[in-house]
Amino acid sequence: MSLDLLDFRIRQRDYLLRITRAIVSRLNLRAVLRMILQASVDMLQGQLGLIALRDQEEKHEFSFWASYGLPPVLVDSFLPLVEEVPDVSSVEEFQIPHISEKLQEIADETGLLLRQVVSLPMVVDEAFVGVIFIFRSHSHSFSSDDRQILASFADYAAIAVNNARLYESVDTERRRLDALLDASADGIMVIGSDLTLERFNRALTVLTGWPVEAATSKKHHEVITWARRRSSEMKSPSRLQDLTLEQAVSQGWPRREGQSLYIEGDLLRRNGSTVSVGITYAPLTTRSGHLLNIIGIVRDITHFQEANQLKDTFISVVSHELKTPVAIIKGYAETMSRPEAWEQPEMMTELSSAIIEEADRLARLVDDLLDVSQLQAGGLSFRQVEDVDLSDIARQVVERYQPRTAKHELHLDFPRNFPAIRGDPQRLEQVLDNLVSNAIKYSPRGGEIIIRGKADPAEVKISVSDEGVGIPLEEQERIFEHFYRVEGPETRAVSGTGLGLYLTRAIVRAHGGRIWVRSTPGQGATFHVALPRETQIALWGKEEQIIDLPLQDS
Ligand code: ADP
Repeated sequence: MSLDLLDFRIRQRDYLLRITRAIVSRLNLRAVLRMILQASVDMLQGQLGLIALRDQEEKHEFSFWASYGLPPVLVDSFLPLVEEVPDVSSVEEFQIPHISEKLQEIADETGLLLRQVVSLPMVVDEAFVGVIFIFRSHSHSFSSDDRQILASFADYAAIAVNNARLYESVDTERRRLDALLDASADGIMVIGSDLTLERFNRALTVLTGWPVEAATSKKHHEVITWARRRSSEMKSPSRLQDLTLEQAVSQGWPRREGQSLYIEGDLLRRNGSTVSVGITYAPLTTRSGHLLNIIGIVRDITHFQEANQLKDTFISVVSHELKTPVAIIKGYAETMSRPEAWEQPEMMTELSSAIIEEADRLARLVDDLLDVSQLQAGGLSFRQVEDVDLSDIARQVVERYQPRTAKHELHLDFPRNFPAIRGDPQRLEQVLDNLVSNAIKYSPRGGEIIIRGKADPAEVKISVSDEGVGIPLEEQERIFEHFYRVEGPETRAVSGTGLGLYLTRAIVRAHGGRIWVRSTPGQGATFHVALPRETQIALWGKEEQIIDLPLQDS
């Protein structure tokens, strides 16, 4: 081999090495193509070079992606060369029609010295991705050796294009996955086979309190820590029940493809609070069955949990509250059916009034339950809307309750000419009835109960105060929730469902009003109701009409 040839081969190898490195290091595609072009021009002793890439959708369209030795403004003058590129990917058969004439025209137009041109297709995996052109300003025509050398550079250019496109499509997929993860309302984490957190989405940050950056690359158990786990009948085969992910993996999970794991319980958030979640872990395995990743989907099941709890409370409250009056009624009725009882008229009166009272309690419970289900279905029905005198209603309530209690003194304190408001008299009576009966129930040692009325130009205000057990501050909001009762001996001693104040608040709100409580535990409680004097009741419709009022927020 002559020294010249040796030198030539070394230069070619150097170029190819540099190009390979550029491709591997994912240098920008235009820069790689320009590097290839420069090498080709140099190796073929040309002066100019161009690379045109085929459009991925419009296959017959080409555009220039790299030029060498050419002022950029002149690049477009070479477009005629790519107007009729044949769809032939074999290097031997590839021939651009009328290329010499076109070259001449371009030379005339640009004033460039263009004597010879060689063009080769760039092909990868049998796909024709572009054309590489090398121009000479001298008349030495390109030999078959030249074409061979150029073919090797064209191959590299094709690989570079292919790599860039693959990378781009991977990148697009990755961004699509990111968008999907970010948009998901469920928490999603991607866990490596060594149980390191690789991805952690925003919803999971909200759920756990762990910022994405702090969570990723931590071990799964450092972030997902259970305050309490519940055994579940769902999804997991029984053998895997009650295991954490770590335990399941150490016991050989997943045994087969697609065997998911479900864990439910209270998750410890980063700030120490807890949240009820259900996590489904789905394994992602290689074709040979090797664990690649675990995808964890974390769902907030607080509402589900609350609904479940509510259902349990409902059943226990209702069964207890139904059972007691029924048992009392039955017992008293049995006593009354004995002949001895007939001879004691006072006892008969006492027993029958007790039966009536218990039957009333039952009827009230049924009414309350019907109201609650109506409320939950979207609104409370109002039967009548008219001018209501609350001082009159308060008086009736006092007259009803005072004879039933010897320990309590019920007082009314209303100004003269207390203004009437528009509303449903039966519902408003229900409000006062409930507050007064609670005042009696929750002041077992008796005392004074005062029902006050006040009016200002905008509102009428009613308060019911007692000297009873009172309500701790932290419970003062919660007592308006359905089925909520304060835990404690005083509450347990009296029967109740925890529905009264829930319905009371719904009625008050439906009238556009507010209800709240002030209390010092041990010294009594005062419930305040404020109702607007001018409500939009006119909008609600005519009297005697049943009007469904929307729930405000309950
Ligand atoms: P119930 O009386 O049937 O339990 P309510 O909804 O009327 O249901 O009241 C909810 C809870 O609020 C009661 O269980 C009681 O603990 C508390 N509560 C209501 N009124 C009073 C009051 N006047 N004094 C003290 N606690 C009260």
